[in-house]
Amino acid sequence: GFNCGIVGLPNVGKSTLFNALTATQAAQAANYPFCTIEPNVGRVAVPDPRLENLARIGKSATIIPTQLEFVDIAGLVRGASKGEGLGNQFLANIRETDAVLYVLRCFEDTDITHVEGSIDPIRDADVVETELMLADLDSLEKRVVSQQKKAKGGDRDAKAELEVMEPALALLREGKPARMFQPTPEQKPIFKRLALLTGKPVLYVANVAESDAATGNAFSQRVLDRAKSEGAAAVIISAAIEAEVAQLSGDDQREYLESLGLKEPGLNKVIRAGYGLLDLITFFTVGPKEARAWTVRRNARAPESAGVIHTDFERGFIKAETIAYEDFIANGGEQGAKDAGKLRVEGKEYVVQDGDVMHFRFNV
Ligand code: GDP
Repeated sequence: GFNCGIVGLPNVGKSTLFNALTATQAAQAANYPFCTIEPNVGRVAVPDPRLENLARIGKSATIIPTQLEFVDIAGLVRGASKGEGLGNQFLANIRETDAVLYVLRCFEDTDITHVEGSIDPIRDADVVETELMLADLDSLEKRVVSQQKKAKGGDRDAKAELEVMEPALALLREGKPARMFQPTPEQKPIFKRLALLTGKPVLYVANVAESDAATGNAFSQRVLDRAKSEGAAAVIISAAIEAEVAQLSGDDQREYLESLGLKEPGLNKVIRAGYGLLDLITFFTVGPKEARAWTVRRNARAPESAGVIHTDFERGFIKAETIAYEDFIANGGEQGAKDAGKLRVEGKEYVVQDGDVMHFRFNV
């Protein structure tokens, strides 16, 4: 699966957000499978209204949304890259994630200590980012030396790797995150393998007071501005509200949100933004047993997508009967779409599109 790490300084609302994410899922409905794999890892369902429409038209007995994994990464403080706080353990946890959520405290509360002494989300983002950049700098400087030796000896892989490492290192030396490096399509997998902490896509989560959830505040505005200047994503939520929402179900939840001027749980925004951050798309399978959403990276071809369901589907892939979501809905389901000539038979080279309703044919 794909996962997002939740990072931030202490007392900014990380655990509150994580617990709300996981609790909401557990409370929502029995057929929204949720599980906590480890205390700090939770899988959450990706909200997608299309799934209900597909299930209604396809007369599916159950709905199974696709999931995203969130990891609560505690222990980041100034000096973490030098082993302060949970130090290296914390950094190792981030290394394994696909994307990083920076939770930034944008609420004032004199009862809750701020480790830096005041509310300043931009400074906090810089503290977090600096620790991650120092760790990257450290690991890259070591690795570059050995790769340079290999490259001199004629090692082509080492040479290709250096062409990614060196510009990334130059950025870090200038105090810039490695994600500012723009790899060519060929360099992308190399860059990814480097697993640089600041090479991962970032989502800023501005955690505001309950009263500011609908409007944001001056602090969260600064976060939005920063995100915009970097071409990064940002969402405004109030973790405290989300914790409340997580305890409610159905109508109570809607009523509570409405009273605060909110249309949906803020967590939905976080989940969707995480999904976008990872550049993922959803395809569907629809049958009498279940209507189900599946996640695959954008630009994946049909066999790889089939492999998300089962490795046998990928190995024995023959073809994919495909109906676009809109065509499925507009024609009253699979048979109607077929009669209208909207069912396409796609082969190995087909790049799966977001919303495709797929039926894979394969050899066993
Ligand atoms: P973490 O250390 O980053 O995991 O922070 P926690 O989630 O434990 O939150 C620290 C404290 O801030 C807790 O007492 C939370 O209840 C409180 N808190 C978190 N989010 C909000 C919020 O949106 N508004 C207010 N007033 N308090 C919050």
